[in-house]
Amino acid sequence: MDQDSKALIKELRHAGLSSQAIKAAWPSWWDDDAASSPSARAELRFALSRKLGLSPQSLLGEKVEFVWENDVRFKNLTAGDRIERGAVASFGAAVARLLLRATPAVRSMETVTASDLRKAILSGRPLVDLVGLISACWGLGVPVIHLRVFPLRAKFMRAMVVAVDGRHAILLGRDAFYPAPIAFTLAHEIGHAALRHIGNGKALVDVGDPSYGGNDEEERDADSYGLELLTGSAQPTITTNIENFSARSLAAACIEAGPPRGIEPGSLALCVGYTQNNWIIANAALRHVYSERKAVWTEVNALAARELRWDDIGEESADYLRSVMSADA
Ligand SMILES: [Zn+2]
Repeated sequence: MDQDSKALIKELRHAGLSSQAIKAAWPSWWDDDAASSPSARAELRFALSRKLGLSPQSLLGEKVEFVWENDVRFKNLTAGDRIERGAVASFGAAVARLLLRATPAVRSMETVTASDLRKAILSGRPLVDLVGLISACWGLGVPVIHLRVFPLRAKFMRAMVVAVDGRHAILLGRDAFYPAPIAFTLAHEIGHAALRHIGNGKALVDVGDPSYGGNDEEERDADSYGLELLTGSAQPTITTNIENFSARSLAAACIEAGPPRGIEPGSLALCVGYTQNNWIIANAALRHVYSERKAVWTEVNALAARELRWDDIGEESADYLRSVMSADA
């Protein structure tokens, strides 16, 4: 690789971007001939700026500057987390804007209540599961993808919601081997969007595990919204007649009690874990709820690939989105 590109990569790494993100954003037309052309080198910088959310000047010799640096709020960030906020915000915002360009606007998610959304999902399927949630989002013109490429080395991010002109895009971060944890996260993020927690042109990033009864009001409200969406009640009262239930008995109880109430059994197990603050048993129960163990992101992104209007964004942007959605992370 030429010296100029090497220096550019070093600069981007130094600003906090992972080599994975830089690689995904690097244009496929780049080659030795391009490296020797000043106009191609300028075009390379503009392409990287657009895709990574950098200010256009910043790669033309000035300091790397992230456009969305000050427009992101992090939830549950602990003091020990050292994060390049600008890199996360700008990368996510750039991807979200691309997704929105490839997704027809239907209606804003703002002011959609949990009970209306739950009813809408239940009109087409017997229970509110992950596929039902994702389909409802796409139906409202809200793209949902799982990020396979991260701006940072550490995959600390649970999910991110970006708001642009009344529209939202949801980027899922941490993956799971069963659908319920992702449904739980997605329902919470839908809550942030519907409750208007994200100002226009801003983003919200959820970090770490969902925690019960935290002192952040928005987090509690998004949790309540999510619980109502998943179970029909913002404060589900879950009583079990088994003392010290095991993972297996919890799973059996959820398989029996969930579906008649339109509740996906895995989600019900997590609700028990959430309300009783016992994630260990709840997560262990999932092994007995589902018949197979499979990385959930593959299904999330397969749905997205079918919904996105790839032709609306041009080949280079489409290539970029595809690598963000499919790279081996
Ligand atoms: Zn949150």
